[in-house]
Amino acid sequence: MSHQKEKEEKRSSVERYLLKHEIEKLESRRSFNMSTSLVSLYIPPGTRLSDINSQLRDEYGTATNIKDKSTGKAVQSALSSIMSRMKNLTDPGKNGIAIFCGITQSNKVEYFLIYPPERVGIKLYVCDYVFHIDHLKDMLESKLRYGLALVSRGGATLAIVQGSRLDIVWDEDSFVPGKTRMGGQSQRRYQRLVDEAAQKWFTKVATKMNDTFMNNYPVEGIVVGGPALSKAEFLESKEIDYRLKEKVIGIHDVGYLNIQGMRELLEKAEEDLSDFELIKERKLTQNFMEHLGKDTGLATYGEKQVREALEKGAVETVLVSEDVDRVNIEINCDGCSYSNIESVKTKNYNEFVKDLSERKCPKCNETKLYIDKETDLITELHELSKNTGANLEVIATSHEDGAMLYGAFGGIAAILRYKLFDGY
Ligand SMILES: [Zn+2]
Repeated sequence: MSHQKEKEEKRSSVERYLLKHEIEKLESRRSFNMSTSLVSLYIPPGTRLSDINSQLRDEYGTATNIKDKSTGKAVQSALSSIMSRMKNLTDPGKNGIAIFCGITQSNKVEYFLIYPPERVGIKLYVCDYVFHIDHLKDMLESKLRYGLALVSRGGATLAIVQGSRLDIVWDEDSFVPGKTRMGGQSQRRYQRLVDEAAQKWFTKVATKMNDTFMNNYPVEGIVVGGPALSKAEFLESKEIDYRLKEKVIGIHDVGYLNIQGMRELLEKAEEDLSDFELIKERKLTQNFMEHLGKDTGLATYGEKQVREALEKGAVETVLVSEDVDRVNIEINCDGCSYSNIESVKTKNYNEFVKDLSERKCPKCNETKLYIDKETDLITELHELSKNTGANLEVIATSHEDGAMLYGAFGGIAAILRYKLFDGY
């Protein structure tokens, strides 16, 4: 069961990456003549596509009134392209869809259909000289779920953090009495009663915490805060499930209670949370390098090698550096038979297209080069991985191991299920 959960999370991390990748692509597009002819369309789940279709038909009619004729025509060709493709869609799926279409700087109609990893919250139709992607960008934040526990003798607060959202799920005062000025015998007896009450309280919090962070909102990691002594005392409590104890990734001194204390704890926990995700990535990369170092034959790298291993179904995990964002572009010439495939970084796409319109064909010397086909490397590797049961992990370059993966191994590597070549 927990294995299944792990798988789902991995899938969503790839989805998030691919979304980021798509967004970069969309961000690089402009309308061919800088007119407001690029269509962005957001459709929330549960929408009837026939309603959307009739709205698009109306917009198509309205576009004839656009003063600039070439802009009107461009809007219409975007709309008819969307409408014809929507015939193949039955419903907007569990999260809704986002469609982007229009004549871009490549001088042809480009169409993007995105099934976002999260719910589309708005219905939106807009024509502009760029694509409107803010709503997709909102979905990019880290979405691993963490638990925050603020515990003291005086009270406890439990919260869930996901992305930039903090939700308090439980908040209670304990009524465990504080210090007293009584002396001697009665002081000791009183202190014993207070300690007993505190233990009872901690047991209650532990039970609540097990329930919250394991059953109701399963978390990846937990950060605990509170006054110095209280939280140490609490963490010794036998009632805390050992599996939860293993998930504690940070402990901090926090002076306040309740919401105010929770804010303070969140601030202190932020580093723990980002470190935690980092550690996961570093472990994967180190695992790859270990195989390589020990010459086990279970590691390979380079686009060609990884692709071959994937095609043979031999890959356990593909590691791709987030900086590998190549698009392979097939260029043809309208004046002769010249054809070539060039590799371009997504962020340089704009410049590439601009240059291309002024570039002379090396064969016939005319400026008639155009883009015929584009394939995105990461998307392609993701498809290949999916088809052969391999995991694909995207590794940031902001840490040492990730930078090494990119710098020394070209950013594409794989850990194999079995040895591929005898030579190893
Ligand atoms: Zn030519």
